[in-house]
Amino acid sequence: MSNSYSEAEMPRDDAEGKKGGESSPESPTPGLLALDFDGVICDSVYEGFLSAWKVYGQLWPPPSPPPPGLAETFRRLRPVIETGWEFVILLRLLQEGVPEEEITARFQEEWCPRILERYGLDAADIGKRLDRVRDERITTDLGGWLANQRFYPGVADRLCQLLQQGFPLFILTTKEARFARKLLEQHGVPFPPSQVLGKEQEQPKTVLLRHLGERYRLSGREIWFVEDRLKTLQRVLEAGKEGLYGDMSIRLFLADWGYNTPADREAARQNPEIQVLSLSQFGQDFSAWRVERCKPRSKNSRN
Ligand SMILES: [Mg+2]
Repeated sequence: MSNSYSEAEMPRDDAEGKKGGESSPESPTPGLLALDFDGVICDSVYEGFLSAWKVYGQLWPPPSPPPPGLAETFRRLRPVIETGWEFVILLRLLQEGVPEEEITARFQEEWCPRILERYGLDAADIGKRLDRVRDERITTDLGGWLANQRFYPGVADRLCQLLQQGFPLFILTTKEARFARKLLEQHGVPFPPSQVLGKEQEQPKTVLLRHLGERYRLSGREIWFVEDRLKTLQRVLEAGKEGLYGDMSIRLFLADWGYNTPADREAARQNPEIQVLSLSQFGQDFSAWRVERCKPRSKNSRN
């Protein structure tokens, strides 16, 4: 596709132009759309499971085939995961027989640090092992690697449409950007590589969103952010309330087709600053997203 935009062609808002939030609800179109990757664009849970199981076999040898049923339990618990290395910790907890309810309740806060400490593991090292496993698989069996991951129905077409229109589109992911780029390429989505921001940025999504706003001078236009992890959206809200975004306005959407639980979706529905978005809405024009609320308030607008 020849008319996808480059960074140099990015639409830039006039710094003297509209102030944050003025683009809605009359013209419900974002100035920039930021998307999470896993659980929004791509269902990669099985690939994550298989790669993590290989790393598990390295850390707790000998390697063996995964026990029956483990993949299904892993998928159920996928919503607790924020970053790829945690897949391996989740597998360890399941193999140790820690109950699912316990993992759901205290995975990030308690179990991850506890397992790292107990076995003298390093999160960065586990992450590198996972990336190595993926690289090896891509080299030796690209077809198999791709077959274990799928794009959600209609998503590739919608991304292509937006890129064709020259719409400012970014991906924020906790995985290495090169893996997301590879998947986009294989699914025929001509996503500009520089607009896929991954783990290598070494910044949380809260900060990446601010950088996007600053870099593209979106002082008067809204960023819309679609993410499937409720806690990540809650962090953006908190950061907004602490003033991270100044007058920049961000609308938050929880992708209900991704890795979240009914309780997450219910909590999002109860939060006037987060909108639950369906896959069907995502595939339609922005006017179908029915946005009439949910921007992180800046420090100055708290009252
Ligand atoms: Mg996600």
